[in-house]
Amino acid sequence: MSNNRLCQKVMKTITNSFGDTEKICCAKEKGHRGLHRYTESYEEFGEYAKHVKSKVLTMAYATAGATAANSPITNRGSRFAPPRALTKTEELDLKAQGEYRVGIRKDEASTFEQCKKIEVDLCQDVLNIYRGKGYNCPLCGLPVLWEHFLSKDRKDGKSVHGCHLDPLEEGSIKHYVGNIKWGHRDCNSIQGDRGLDQLQEHLKIMYDHLQKGTNEGRKVNQPTISW
Ligand SMILES: [Zn+2]
Ligand SMILES: [Zn+2]
Repeated sequence: MSNNRLCQKVMKTITNSFGDTEKICCAKEKGHRGLHRYTESYEEFGEYAKHVKSKVLTMAYATAGATAANSPITNRGSRFAPPRALTKTEELDLKAQGEYRVGIRKDEASTFEQCKKIEVDLCQDVLNIYRGKGYNCPLCGLPVLWEHFLSKDRKDGKSVHGCHLDPLEEGSIKHYVGNIKWGHRDCNSIQGDRGLDQLQEHLKIMYDHLQKGTNEGRKVNQPTISW
């Protein structure tokens, strides 16, 4: 939908973690009824709307954060308007002072503009998965299916996670449209914090090593008990 067909009412003006002012505008159609909202519509997903919306919004706008209670990092904070964005040094200082749940990591911060673009992009990709139009994992190239997207099984390697292709780092925004994509849980965990070049190097080292079969010797130790 082109912008001139949107309501675009300024809902809020924020100062992001980089000191820039951004306007959060309504993304509903011009002349709409009811409350303004800056997020996309998820009605097309019918009974799955709630699940899709929650998954997309979490990936686009919220940090992974920290679940530990004794961390200066909040769990699931806003990426574009957090109470504070902490450098690694500040995080360590606050931890030493016993100050917890202060803000998000600076490497996880982004602008509202980028978060919004990510939402639109991720939403479009889910729509393609939902309608069977095809979407492939950016890491293994294999299809991501709707059943994978719906999977809530934490052990399901094909369940779907948001992956940052260039990993987050302090000093540059890595949460931007195109750098965050849906991928398989297994592929995301194999990547870890590596960039794509580092990932290739690591996989090549592993592959070459495993090809040599040097671990085969362990088998002589395997107990013969079976049941
Ligand atoms: Zn509106
Ligand atoms: Zn994959």
